Amino acid sequence: MTDSAVPSPERHDAPGPAWPAPAQGLEEIAREAFVPGGVLSRAAEAFRPRHGQTEMAAAVARTIEQGGALVVEAGTGVGKTFSYLVPALLSGERVLLSTATKTLQDQLFGRDLPRLAEALGLPVRMALLKGRASYLCTHRLDLARRDASLPDRSALRTLAKIEEWAQATRTGDLAEMPGLDERSPVLPLVTSTRENCLGSQCPKFRGCHVNNARREALAADVVVINHHLFFADLAVRDSGMAELLPTVRVAIFDEAHQLNETGVQFLGAQVGTGQVLDFTRDMLGAGLQFARGLVDWQQLAGATERAARELRLVVGRNAAGSRLRWTGAAPEGVPEATWCEALEDLQAALAQAAEGIATVSEIAPDFVRLHERAALLAQRLQAFTREAEPGAVRWVDAGTHLRLVESPLDIAEAVQAKLLKTGEAEDPEARRRAWVFTSATLGDDARLTWFTEPCGLQDAEVLRVASPFDYPSQAAVYVPRQLPRPNDPGHSAAVGALAQHAALRLGGRTMVLTTTLRALRAIGEQLQARFQGSTEIEVLVQGQWPKRRLIERFREGAGDGRPGCILVASASFWEGIDVPGDALQLVIIDKLPFPPPGDPLVEARGQRLESQGRSPFNDYFVPEAAVALKQGAGRLIRRESDQGLLVVCDTRLVQMGYGRRLLAALPPMRRLADEAEFEDALQRLAAG
Ligand code: SF4
Repeated sequence: MTDSAVPSPERHDAPGPAWPAPAQGLEEIAREAFVPGGVLSRAAEAFRPRHGQTEMAAAVARTIEQGGALVVEAGTGVGKTFSYLVPALLSGERVLLSTATKTLQDQLFGRDLPRLAEALGLPVRMALLKGRASYLCTHRLDLARRDASLPDRSALRTLAKIEEWAQATRTGDLAEMPGLDERSPVLPLVTSTRENCLGSQCPKFRGCHVNNARREALAADVVVINHHLFFADLAVRDSGMAELLPTVRVAIFDEAHQLNETGVQFLGAQVGTGQVLDFTRDMLGAGLQFARGLVDWQQLAGATERAARELRLVVGRNAAGSRLRWTGAAPEGVPEATWCEALEDLQAALAQAAEGIATVSEIAPDFVRLHERAALLAQRLQAFTREAEPGAVRWVDAGTHLRLVESPLDIAEAVQAKLLKTGEAEDPEARRRAWVFTSATLGDDARLTWFTEPCGLQDAEVLRVASPFDYPSQAAVYVPRQLPRPNDPGHSAAVGALAQHAALRLGGRTMVLTTTLRALRAIGEQLQARFQGSTEIEVLVQGQWPKRRLIERFREGAGDGRPGCILVASASFWEGIDVPGDALQLVIIDKLPFPPPGDPLVEARGQRLESQGRSPFNDYFVPEAAVALKQGAGRLIRRESDQGLLVVCDTRLVQMGYGRRLLAALPPMRRLADEAEFEDALQRLAAG
């Protein structure tokens, strides 16, 4: 069932309550909801019973009844949201729902959950909980109002709009504010972090939006969160989940394929020069407002800021987003003595700042927090002067700022110890708790080891539910053998030429997914130069507009004088983009999406496998590529009526032994043997 088939409150007569009758088990009741004439088909005309959807719902119901962990890979079109929501709501248990993105979080809370609860006739109390950066902090808004150093006039205008909106908002969720640019430099000034929040000392504590959201979450039957929040809390216990999680009986993770990579970001240790600069700004702001003349704030802030910038400088100029390996005393390419000295200087500057703040700490609660922040930053920097923890990997992210990172290689240990509590066999509550992990793509083998191994879920029950789509008749895959090899300098130009030709035949309707930003730029520029001023094709390139706007324009396609579209994108567009219908008929992938071998985290994962006598290539690189390829290909067919072509411009797929495994991971599309068959398929698509 697609989400569009969710009954709308306006469109149906709510059926009677469907609370479980005592004699029936949850599995039986959940199954009944999905049968023809059952509560779902009575509530929504568009609902069609599907075997896979019902089986998944039954498995979720059994897990809720018995406790334990269930991992479900549900192919596109299964309707997995209903498969977990129906048994979860019917169980009457307290439920935590976590998603990877705020978009799905908003969709679940704003649409799917209320409509389904109404269809089932269940009085469910729901709450949406996001990270504190999503909520307006009224205390910091007050400080920002009086801050004379706001970046520019446009920042002042944004601040004025936020102030006006602040009078009316109930939730304080900034996503509800119309027209607010989420990249605005004002946002960090009007939201809080764990470090700068004053907690119960805050003059605005009573009406605080962050605390209100947490209180509502604690009182709700179903709480919708996101993975970032979940792991941030597991790591630093900041979001109120420390109280929430023990009271939850059912935890469901949708888009679970992102759990491991999200988790490792939070479970390690991090400190950055950007955080130090935020601190100096806050110290200067509070100092000048509450204790002007008592301490030389300009001098203290200047010295700390200089030390932070010095540390950034010793690393030298690096391409934005570079990760520097850090296995010895200093990151690679950085002289050890200079690095250690700069690190010590920054700690000393923070210690001096802390001393200065301590002299005025009774004047305002802000100074107590600032003192703690200075100490914490210095302590975190200090930890990076010692050796890394065993089993962890260290690196430096070098961009405008520097971020020092120490990360576990995966989340397995944390999941086992903190979620499943496998070491606490006698904890009856932990045993009763049900964990459900689901996504459209969780691996390329029967045990879904790509997902279960790094997440510590090898003992979980595993279920794979195939997509109901008829892939052999709806889609075809083509690997052009005449293209240059993927490492050939002319490869991107050849991919661009293929995209140009095919998009002209289809009148746009083409998405090019690249594995690197360099290829994104090369192919994007080539196509934009070719179609400049064209009335037939408009070329959309990631980064030139906000993501949402790009997707909306691409979905519109041709019509009413608009040209058709080619979208050239990388990274985040490989997954989660939903363009049903004929706005998208051709997906072109430039290269096999292997993880970057020089990345310190990737390298450390490979080395660990090697030390276990396993093959990093077969056990890590190939499964990663298989899952990413499957996700990219998954953009093509979104409905039973969709038709489309997938072109993978990497001859290794048909020339190397591992190519067979990668092709097998794709949905069962028919294979096009040569250019003639490809042209023929394009012709048919173009003819509609
Ligand atoms: S308690 Fe923290 S988040 Fe809430 S208003 Fe005060 S500083 Fe802001």
